Order: sequence, then C-alpha cells, then structure tokens
Amino acid sequence: MKILSGLNLNEIEQITDELGATKFRARQIHNWIYLKSVKSIDEMTDLSIKFREELKKVAKVTDIQIKVKQVSSDGTIKYLLQFPDGECVETVLMRFDNRANLTACVSSQVGCAVNCSFCATGKRGFIRNLSYKEIIEQVLTIQRDTGLKVTNVVFMGQGEPLLNLDNVLKAMDIFNENFQIGARRLTVSTSGIVPQIRKLADLDMQSTLALSLHAPNSQIRSRLMPIENKYNMDELHKALKYYVEKTGRRITIEYLLVKDLNDTVESAKQLAAYLKDIKCNINLIPYNPTEKNDYKRPSNNAIMKFKYLMEHSGKKVTVRLERGADIDAACGQLRGKVD
Ligand code: SAH
Ligand code: SF4
Repeated sequence: MKILSGLNLNEIEQITDELGATKFRARQIHNWIYLKSVKSIDEMTDLSIKFREELKKVAKVTDIQIKVKQVSSDGTIKYLLQFPDGECVETVLMRFDNRANLTACVSSQVGCAVNCSFCATGKRGFIRNLSYKEIIEQVLTIQRDTGLKVTNVVFMGQGEPLLNLDNVLKAMDIFNENFQIGARRLTVSTSGIVPQIRKLADLDMQSTLALSLHAPNSQIRSRLMPIENKYNMDELHKALKYYVEKTGRRITIEYLLVKDLNDTVESAKQLAAYLKDIKCNINLIPYNPTEKNDYKRPSNNAIMKFKYLMEHSGKKVTVRLERGADIDAACGQLRGKVD
C-alpha cells in the first residue's frame, strides 16, 4: 500500500501510470494532497468513482494518527501524532492575532540527544530520526484537521534538526515546491552543531537559521547546554561569522532568559560583545517551566531591562510570545508522550 502524503509529482505519476491513467490525474491527486488536504481518496471528487476505487486498492492518503489534540485558550493547537511504529511526536500550530500567518512548529526527531538541562524533550534521550515524509506529514495532518493552509514552518519542535540534516533539507524542498511555502517562511533552529552550520552556509540555504545560544559565556552555556563541551562558543562564533559572510543572511539568535542565571546586566554586556560582529536579530525566550529543575522565569521587569540593554547594542530584539503554555505547548514543554 502506497502512502500518498509525502510523494512528489513524479512518484504519484508512477502510481497513475501503473493504473493506466494520464499524467493529469497525478496532478489532480497532488493538488488534493498538498493544497486541499483531503483525508481520504473518496474526497478527490474530480476523479471518477471507478478510478478512485482502483486507486484505493493500491494507495491511501496517510498512515499517521492523531492520538491527542489540545486547544489552548490563545488558539494554539497541540497534536500528539503517532507513526505506524508506535513512536509519537508533538506538532504545534500557532496563530498570531492580527496576522494571517499560520505557523507550524514541527519536530525533526523522536527525542533529542543534546540533552539541554532546561528542555523537556532532551529528558527522554534520543530515540530516532524522523524521515522527511514524517516531517511533512506533520504539516499535512494539521492542514487536514483544520482545513487551513499552513503559511510558515519552524523546525522548533522536538529534536535537533541539524543532526537529521538530510531529511530536514529534503522536507524543506518539499515545503517549497509542493506546499508553495517560500524559503523565507521556513526557519531551522539549532543548538549549535558547528560543522552543520558551515555546511548550510556552503549550501547557501535560503531559509532562516535560528541559533539557540542561551548564554553570554562558556561557563553559563555549559551549565545549560552540554553541547558547549563539544562545540564551544569560540568555534560557534567562527561558524556564525562564516555563515553570515557566505550567505549575506541575518541569523536569529534565540536567548532563553532564566532568572538570576543569564538575565543580569553583566550577561547582557557579554552577549552584546559576543554578537557585535554577527549580523543578527535577537529573540528573547523567557523560560517556560518544565518538570524537574530549579530554573525560574525572570520578572517582566527584568525581561524588559534585558531587552533594552540589547537594543542599546544596536540589535533588533523581540520577546517571544508565549503560546499554548496552558496545554504544555510552549517552547521546551514538548515531551512526545501521552503519559
Ligand atoms: N533543538 C533545536 C530545535 C528545538 S527549538 C534547538 O534547541 O534549537 C526549541 C526552542 O525552545 C529552543 O530554542 C530551545 O532552547 C527552547 N526551549 C527549550 N526548553 C525551553 C523552556 N523550558 N523554556 C523556553 N524555551 C525553551
Ligand atoms: Fe534538544 Fe533543542 Fe531540547 Fe536542547 S533545546 S534538548 S537541542 S530539542
């Protein structure tokens, strides 16, 4: 049985060829899958009933299941999705008021090996990579379930996308070509896998690179992110510079703000110095509580003060709006479990 979701036009043509149908039928099926997001072959109403019956014998739309769906009071929707092997990941759909954008936050791995001390995903360890089809299925599932068209995709769910780079790049190509989501509307977030950042620079990736930096110096960073012991901030700095010089593109620096740890005036000064020669915007992420650690979210006052200090260094700074915290869908709260 072929799964239609995730197939490109050529692959769908192979199926229609085998059924003795024209290439135009493949184009119709492709539209039903990617643009109209049907749940079943029966809904492909511009195909004859006879052809639909033939198609149903060899193919189906999807084999992914929605295990749990939660809707936040702010409109954010979190899905727990299950693949045929029983593994689950979470995918989040965010709508921002007064904007037509619908952003899907997708997972790239089941679990994560990087094991940052503040993140619920890391606590599970690494289970497996997702295939590119499993990545794009997350967006298709959202579209099928809501009947809405996703306009932006961020790789900010579970997993470290740059440790599953081939599948992530392939999924990005498909978002581009099949979903008509422009490269500028795709963002890949990394904890700082230095060789892969250089690789993206060499590939001249057109999408936005977001770096989870989270610390102004190595000492604080290694407390938050063990990856610092593998690729330290000096090496990271060189790779970021290389990326910006090679691509001419601006990086997004994500900076988790933890009370009394990295939210001080001294931290702001050090961070400004570190980023001085890197073309970037800064996105501050106030810490969202997860189980089993002692970190705290700074006060709003402290957040605004930090923002002001960074703006003073000449950068554009935003504070990430917290979405879906009441359903544990906010950054760092995705565990990928039913429990
Ligand atoms: N692994 C990649 C992609 C996941 S993005 C990365 O880490 O960049 C998830 C974002 O949410 C990252 O910036 C991560 O640092 C942040 N995050 C993790 N735990 C968090 C928490 N408890 N509160 C706020 N943000 C958190
Ligand atoms: Fe992995 Fe990112 Fe969570 Fe760190 S923050 S454990 S890299 S998913």
